[in-house]
Amino acid sequence: MSSRALHPEVVTAGRVARGRGVRRAGPAAAGGGPVVLVKQAPPFRMASREAHPEDSIVAAGGVEIGTGRLVVMAGPCSVESRQQIRETARRVKASGADMLRGGAYKPRTSPYDFQGLGRKALAWLAEAGRESGLPVVTEVLSPEDVELVAEHADLLQVGARNMQNYALLRRLATATKPVLLKRGPSATIQEWLLAAEYLLSGGNPQVVLCERGIRTFETATRNTLDLAGVALAKQLTHLPVIVDPSHATGKRALVAPVSRAAAAIGADGLLIEVHPCPGRALSDGEQSLDPGEFAELMATLRERTIGAGV
Ligand code: PEP
Ligand code: MN
Repeated sequence: MSSRALHPEVVTAGRVARGRGVRRAGPAAAGGGPVVLVKQAPPFRMASREAHPEDSIVAAGGVEIGTGRLVVMAGPCSVESRQQIRETARRVKASGADMLRGGAYKPRTSPYDFQGLGRKALAWLAEAGRESGLPVVTEVLSPEDVELVAEHADLLQVGARNMQNYALLRRLATATKPVLLKRGPSATIQEWLLAAEYLLSGGNPQVVLCERGIRTFETATRNTLDLAGVALAKQLTHLPVIVDPSHATGKRALVAPVSRAAAAIGADGLLIEVHPCPGRALSDGEQSLDPGEFAELMATLRERTIGAGV
């Protein structure tokens, strides 16, 4: 399917508009009579705004995503110890975060890098969430782990590397918890929305999309944030769309400006890495804010967007 299918044209009768997401119908298709062109529905049928014009609101542990209020999810890349996640939860809650993030199962590019503490990290994350009153989001890597992770988390993250793991998507389609679907680093918007379609068509209507940067020729930033893609996804679908400025940039100093840009363009939320001591983080320390930097960012976001009711 060409990317043109993302822009279905208005029905044109009696004129041939080639390659514009329209198809011939009626007698002309069979070789005679007037040409009638009918609008072609986007291939992501259930995710499309055509199917569902109003914004969808997804509730994760009592926090509503997609209402127009910016939802901020914050916490470490990896849950490293009970104390680390409890302290982070307390600090990000004090700054106004809505949800706590933390990885227990980590998809690392190298098999020699820290892979996450698994089960015990999940338990510590859930405990820190309860203690601070923050619902939790964490990644699930494989279909076999969905049940366990769903027992501990309020929002199940599909990481960028797994966006097209169809066995995982099919399993998550039957989960009772909402799913945060990250865009793959090399995925087109259409592929991303079709991945969401696996969840929706399989029976899970609770899907939040997350843009976290795509791979381009540029290497000065870890990835290239497709900010226009966020606005386009919001136009094409009714699903909430959030932005991860940490993985999008790979650089601590860029997290605050990119967060403000995401809020300005209409993102429904942010997923931000925060570590009590980024210099000692076992993963993604260079892109993690410390709790003080996160507090400052929250203050400016509150002034410019949250406070303004955007
Ligand atoms: C993460 O959120 O820590 C992560 C691994 O993100 P991504 O899948 O976007 O690389
Ligand atoms: Mn990370």
